[in-house]
Amino acid sequence: MSVALVTGGGGGIGRAIALRLAAGGADVAVVDLDESLGAETARLVEAAGRRALFLRADVSRSADVEAFVEATEERLGPIDAFANNAGIEGVIAPIFDYPEDVFDRLLAVNAKGVFLGLKHVLARMCKRGTGAVVNTASTSAVRGRPGLAGYVATKHAVLGLTRVAALDVAGTAIRVNAVLPGPVETRMIRALDAQAEQSGGIKRAGSARYGRPEDVANVVAFLLSAEAAHVNGAAWTVDAGATVP
Ligand code: NAD
Repeated sequence: MSVALVTGGGGGIGRAIALRLAAGGADVAVVDLDESLGAETARLVEAAGRRALFLRADVSRSADVEAFVEATEERLGPIDAFANNAGIEGVIAPIFDYPEDVFDRLLAVNAKGVFLGLKHVLARMCKRGTGAVVNTASTSAVRGRPGLAGYVATKHAVLGLTRVAALDVAGTAIRVNAVLPGPVETRMIRALDAQAEQSGGIKRAGSARYGRPEDVANVVAFLLSAEAAHVNGAAWTVDAGATVP
């Protein structure tokens, strides 16, 4: 039995990760800003026969992150697996029109939120010498996309943070990896598609279909498992080959 923590656990990918980890025998703490979505995921984890906890929090707030990490360990036990997954998409606009307040919020949630999760979870994992983390980046971590200044910049930041954290724990049994999904069928991609339609479209390459949240969750579960014991600092693409150079 193990304990997992999933941020953005009320959303499409986060919920799939929580349920996949529960199916593999984990008790799961679900963190989300959205109370009804997060509580529903926790309910589904319990329905799958595992212990679950919903913790409403904003990952961009240091005090919230400290509190949900503490609450998870107090109520479920030491965190073995951490899916650092919460994220937002912002708006589509050329960089010369991109709103500064939206850019700031993306930095706060997607970049600082991932940093705070790494900081507070790894501090505890390092004391025990064990644990695994997967950060949800995006194929937007390795290439530009028109109109997505805030999203692309912050997903590049997620990959950079993954690499630094992986090196900071190298030589221990702890591992930090990133998953880089292409478009996945969730609220986020529907919101971006709706905006793109209004603003003349963003270009997509490659994939015959959108990924399913479960496609991402399976890879995250593998990277968090002992089977990936020799994988650290990897950028694991899940996009059906859309970004093959
Ligand atoms: P989603 O919108 O369904 O889920 C995101 C969840 O994060 C939501 O439940 C939301 O309430 C929560 N959240 C947002 N801000 C938060 C905050 N400050 N604190 C706590 N929770 C917060 O979208 P999704 O597609 O499931 O996205 C999950 C992750 O996957 C994100 O990091 C996203 O950037 C990434 N991603 C998504 C796609 C895609 O096409 N859907 C592709 C690549 C990467």
